[in-house]
Amino acid sequence: MENMQNILDLNGKVGLVTGAGQGVGRQIALHLGAHNAGGVIVNDFHLERAEAVAAEIEKAGGKAIPLQGDVSDFESVAQMVNVGNQHFGKIDIIVNNAGNSGANPELVERGVPFWESNPESWDPWLDVNLRGVLNCCRATIPGMVERKEGRIITIMSDAGRVGEQGLEVYSAAKAGAAGLMRSIARSLGRYMITANTVAIAATNTPAITARLEDEEVLRKMLSHYVIRRVGEPSDVANMALFLASDASSWITGQTYPVNGGYSFNL
Ligand code: ADP
Repeated sequence: MENMQNILDLNGKVGLVTGAGQGVGRQIALHLGAHNAGGVIVNDFHLERAEAVAAEIEKAGGKAIPLQGDVSDFESVAQMVNVGNQHFGKIDIIVNNAGNSGANPELVERGVPFWESNPESWDPWLDVNLRGVLNCCRATIPGMVERKEGRIITIMSDAGRVGEQGLEVYSAAKAGAAGLMRSIARSLGRYMITANTVAIAATNTPAITARLEDEEVLRKMLSHYVIRRVGEPSDVANMALFLASDASSWITGQTYPVNGGYSFNL
C-alpha cells in the first residue's frame, strides 16, 4: 500500500503561487518545492521577497523561479504566466494566495460602518482578492484545458464564509473568489481540472504576528478557537498540498475551513 508521503508527491507538476513572498504563500511554495514539483513559480508584488523564497526552495533541492507581478493587473499576470510557461514548459497548479490581508490596518476603516464607507475605499479589496483570482484563473486555465489536467486552489478567509463585522468588502471579495471556484469546478470537470477553496482564520504571518504580541488581543482571539492556538502557515500549506496532489483528484468545488474550529462546515 502507498504511504501518504507518496500520495502527496507532485510527480513533476509545476505550480504558480501568488503572493508567495511571505506568510502562507511562502509556506505553500516551500511545500510544493519539497514534494517533487517540477518547478515552483514564486510570485510576489515585492521581487526581493520572491527571490528569497525561490532561493530557499532551490537550497532545499527543489526547482523555483521568482517572478515579480501584480495579480490585480491582467497584463502583469499574463506576462508572468508566459515566463513561467517558457521556463518550466507548463503550469499545472495555480494557488491564488495573494491577498490584502483582512488584518491590514491601513486598509480597514475600523469603526466606520459599511454603509458610511467611501466607495473608492473598496477598490483595493476587490482588485486583489477578487479580480486577482479572476486574472490568474483566466491566464492559467487555457494551458490546463489543453493538457486535460490541473489544480486550482484559492486561499480565502473564513470571513468570506461566515462574515465579519468591519470587513464587509474584504469578505465579499473573498466569497466572490470562492463562488468563482464553484462555477469553474463545474465547467472544468470534463477536463479533469479541480478547483477548491481553503478558508483560513488567524494565521501566524507577518500581517498579524505583531498584533498577537499583545496578550489581551491574543487571549480574546484564542477564545474563538476550539484548538486554542493561532494557525501556522504550515496548517494551511498542508491542505493546499493535498488539494494540489493526485490524492484529491475526486474533490472539486469545495471550500475547506482550516481554522482551529473557529466555525464549522455543515
Ligand atoms: P498572508 O497572511 O496571506 O500570508 P501576507 O500579507 O503575510 O498575508 O502576505 C501576502 C503576500 O502577498 C505579501 O508578500 C504581499 O507582498 C503579496 N501581495 C499582496 N498584494 C499582491 C498583489 N497584488 N500581487 C502579488 N502579490 C501581492
